[in-house]
Amino acid sequence: MSTERITHLVGGAPWTGVSERTSKVYNPATGEVTGELDLASAATVDEAVKVAHDASRAWGRTSLTKRAQVLFAFRELLNANKEKIAALITAEHGKVLSDALGEVTRGQEVAEFACGIPHLLKGGFSENVSTNVDVYSIRQPLGAVAVISPFNFPAMVPLWFVPIAVACGNSVVIKPSEKDPSAVNAVAALWKEAGLPDGVVNVVHGDKEAVDRLLEHPDIKAVSFVGSTPIAKYVYETGTRNGKRVQALGGAKNHMVVLPDADLDLTADAAVNAGFGSAGERCMAISALIAVEPVADDLIGKIKERMAQLRTGDGTRGCDMGPLVTGEHRDKVVGYVEAGVEAGAELAVDGRDGPFDGADDGFWLGPTLFDKVTPDMSIYTDEIFGPVLSVVRVPSYDAALDLVNSNPYGNGTAIFTNDGGAARRYQTEVEVGMVGVNVPIPVPMAYYSFGGWKNSLFGDTHAHGAEGVHFFTRGKVVTSRWLDPSHGGLNLGFPTHD
Ligand code: NAD
Repeated sequence: MSTERITHLVGGAPWTGVSERTSKVYNPATGEVTGELDLASAATVDEAVKVAHDASRAWGRTSLTKRAQVLFAFRELLNANKEKIAALITAEHGKVLSDALGEVTRGQEVAEFACGIPHLLKGGFSENVSTNVDVYSIRQPLGAVAVISPFNFPAMVPLWFVPIAVACGNSVVIKPSEKDPSAVNAVAALWKEAGLPDGVVNVVHGDKEAVDRLLEHPDIKAVSFVGSTPIAKYVYETGTRNGKRVQALGGAKNHMVVLPDADLDLTADAAVNAGFGSAGERCMAISALIAVEPVADDLIGKIKERMAQLRTGDGTRGCDMGPLVTGEHRDKVVGYVEAGVEAGAELAVDGRDGPFDGADDGFWLGPTLFDKVTPDMSIYTDEIFGPVLSVVRVPSYDAALDLVNSNPYGNGTAIFTNDGGAARRYQTEVEVGMVGVNVPIPVPMAYYSFGGWKNSLFGDTHAHGAEGVHFFTRGKVVTSRWLDPSHGGLNLGFPTHD
């Protein structure tokens, strides 16, 4: 099978240079190498940043009306090309087609939000704060910004940031994951088709070398990063040390607390969907199910019934769950399953042996369920990022809350109950950024902001919504008067108002 060369997009065109380093891109459902990806050197990053920096000047001064028109056109093109982009995601990430389509839709919602940029950028105006003096606030673009994204949402995560950054008048250099780079290239081509001037959106592919150069380049003014916690922390510390504004979203361990009064059928559906959707490779996946006794036995029985119905296989064949993204990642997740068994957890469903509806060399692991997991086991402490759901049994609501709040991560959590008072108490007391009440994956809509607490986010600002607009602009306050003779005279005192 022939492999495709995948390269950077700089200034609206594919890069024509020769790359010193490349990496392989796989189809996880077959194990075949399908692409050879150019990895950017620091010099290639510099090229892209220069183009972005130059383009940002004119784009930042382009009228709000024209910027909004490009956003509307981009939204239409994204909608029209959804299936094509979803197919690229399935081919390189492995998630099933319906899930890939859902990812593009959630990204598109951010583009829809950004279409309202003229309203979102309205400032304040106070007339006559002092006699004949007015004060008003404006928000201006930053210049060139970087977006560095993870493998698990190759289209959606860049779309959390790029439409808002562009709508606010910035230019962007995107550094996608090297594991599934093609979706970003396809979306970047749509920006050009939508009428965005060349150079406003650029893509450089690469690894640590490219990321490090973006983090130190003086013309990159802000960095939006999404990835694992150690890299997020590194990106935040390095970027801020170099004077940049940084939001770095990290890893997660999301708990679903089930109270004894919950509807166990609906809860079991939700646990299976949230635990095994996208093979557990979601930062909002449920990986720890906290069963407040006496629900555990009944709930696990219902979860097992549902797991028996799931089909794992090639994402193009109408299966429920696809493969893991690489062979290396599959082996790492299998290592956690072995560690769980060794540590004494009860392996209630073993996903290691299939069956799998796909090629023998695919990166397979079926849905796996552990019972009687204790908080010291690595299957509980670590972010596994695979289809492994761990049930921890606790005696009370307070014990469940303690467990969730002691965890170093704080991305998402959910409580399942019919008791409104208990749910309300949980939303107040839990130390997590996104909370679901009978909703297992509480990803906020585009007009709210997405982000976790603690080790799940470094920086002050969450993604998209009003916080996104704030992140990609900086404020200025103007105090203005139109001079007339009454303003004359010398007075060296500190200005006060009359
Ligand atoms: P990752 O941290 O390995 O990679 C993320 C990005 O960082 C990629 O672009 C990668 O090329 C780059 N990178 C990798 N190693 C680097 C290094 N040493 N120095 C500089 N840059 C480096 O993450 P991943 O495996 O691609 O994605 C999965 C992780 O992302 C999980 O931990 C998941 O929870 C997290 N995630 C978080 C959110 C969120 O919103 N909090 C959303 C999606 C994914």
